[in-house]
Amino acid sequence: MIATIAELRAHPPKTGRRRILVPTMGALHAGHVSLIRLARKHAGEKGEVAVSIFVNPLQFEPGSDFSRYPRPEAADEKVCRREGVDVVFRPTPNEMYFPDRSTSVEETKLSERLCGASRPGHFRGVCTVVTKLFHLLVPDAAVFGEKDFQQLAIIRRMVRDLDFPVEIIPGPTVRERDGLALSSRNQYLSTEERAQAPIIRQALLEAAQTEETSARKILTAVREKIESASLARIDYAELVGADDLQPRLTIEPRSLLAVAVFFGKTRLIDNILLG
Ligand code: AMP
Repeated sequence: MIATIAELRAHPPKTGRRRILVPTMGALHAGHVSLIRLARKHAGEKGEVAVSIFVNPLQFEPGSDFSRYPRPEAADEKVCRREGVDVVFRPTPNEMYFPDRSTSVEETKLSERLCGASRPGHFRGVCTVVTKLFHLLVPDAAVFGEKDFQQLAIIRRMVRDLDFPVEIIPGPTVRERDGLALSSRNQYLSTEERAQAPIIRQALLEAAQTEETSARKILTAVREKIESASLARIDYAELVGADDLQPRLTIEPRSLLAVAVFFGKTRLIDNILLG
């Protein structure tokens, strides 16, 4: 367990060993665990799995849930020990950011739409912290979940554009039995909201099964289905290319149907690949 940059620098990856990083904000659930296991598979027995746990203030917009975001430190530590994680980096915000910091990393194309449109500055915060984590932990590869598909695409673009020597490994979305994607934010849902939340996955699956190819018609059906849940309020529902995240009018190979839905104040995201 490492909390400071000085200590981290004193423990660089051992020569010849692959280090695979799993960046997280903690409140670790089975989705995170699947990424840790994927990291282990890529690291091999001799390699190192590193997990960072950092609730990054830069990626929370003003007025969002930064202060109430769950931080179950003892439980997270237990998960990391059970999974045989080699290095856990859990810094404080003061350790990560100088009070007068004035440099950030921004991707400007893929970040414009979807979650970027609803959460201004969010992906700048993500790119900045991931850059710092890559510099600090010096991983050979890093694992990111497909649940946050836009984040994955933006990190890939950043790594390509800025020549980070880090391989990006995608991890499939882990779900509850009823289809709801696991998220640390699911614990904010009331009983009624939780009961309705699986409508998101149902709407995406229905869209994947239809013969329809028109984006407009598919999105209308997705919206109608989700809005049939009385507590759901759609933030966005879009059909985009999975790599460029630009809108598509019809389904083509690697089209991504992505949605964000509010249940009360809790915003849930999910996506499915079509075509
Ligand atoms: P977070 O702690 O929410 O910032 O997520 C840390 C990493 O776990 C990100 O790469 C997420 O995409 C990934 N992740 C979150 N939820 C899931 C899930 N249900 N299945 C797979 N990966 C996930």
